[in-house]
Amino acid sequence: MRSNFTFSTCNQADHGLPTDRCNSPVTIDLKSDGHIHTRFCNHASGEMEDYVRVALAKGLESIIFLAHLEAEIRYFERTWLTGTDFDSFFQEGNRLREKYQGALIINLGVEAGFNPSAVARLREMLARYPWDRVGLSYHFFSDGKRHFNMVSRRRKNMIGLAALGLHRVLSGYFAGLIQAVQKIDGHVLCHIDAVMRHYPHLSFDKSHWRQVEQLLDLVAQKNMGLELNTSGFAIRGEPYPCQRIVTMAVRRNIPLIPGSDAHRPDQVGRYFDRLPEFLAPGSPAQ
Ligand SMILES: [Zn+2]
Ligand SMILES: [Zn+2]
Repeated sequence: MRSNFTFSTCNQADHGLPTDRCNSPVTIDLKSDGHIHTRFCNHASGEMEDYVRVALAKGLESIIFLAHLEAEIRYFERTWLTGTDFDSFFQEGNRLREKYQGALIINLGVEAGFNPSAVARLREMLARYPWDRVGLSYHFFSDGKRHFNMVSRRRKNMIGLAALGLHRVLSGYFAGLIQAVQKIDGHVLCHIDAVMRHYPHLSFDKSHWRQVEQLLDLVAQKNMGLELNTSGFAIRGEPYPCQRIVTMAVRRNIPLIPGSDAHRPDQVGRYFDRLPEFLAPGSPAQ
């Protein structure tokens, strides 16, 4: 696989703008997987070292473990790390960093799940460790009594969210992410449109698109990156986010960061080879 890929969404013939109004060409690093889980979160399998071995076998140059952190979530099972888990995560991660020095760059990061009711707690937990990367996402939506997972296909989540009203949940999701970016210092916004992915008939309306615009403006202002989450290829044939959001991000010069969201070792770097064609269909090979 090639190391990186450069493309531009600007076609002057299309928009007739002077070149200084064009976005700069975007380069994505195809040798770095920016989103990897491990068994520590309770819903992924495999030791950290299993993921490292696959990354090496696939010729990657760097990986970023992005361990699930959640705060004050009322849910029937734990799908994130405890404090003790994070201690073990750093201990093992540091051991691997030393062992594989020179062969693979290993970064230790966190996928911080937003909770509008637990901002102080999230900040406090984030301040405890020396993260190489902080990814922001928003998984759990509250009805005031308990939480439902917006990226789950489990019946109890799907029924619970439908009862709240899907349009309302989606608006609440984007409002939450806007707050997350404002209130928490992160490096990258994760899988922006993966939420509600198991409701195939649900589509964004104009108000949601306005929220996406506002969110991307903030991401650009805070110099954050936007994740190209390749797990989407398995579910809908394109990454999270979709083409339209990628174009909106590129126009704002937001860096795009590929991540597999691997929950099994063999998923490291999955579908990265499909990104060039997705980003610039028919573009000549470099
Ligand atoms: Zn997960
Ligand atoms: Zn996530």
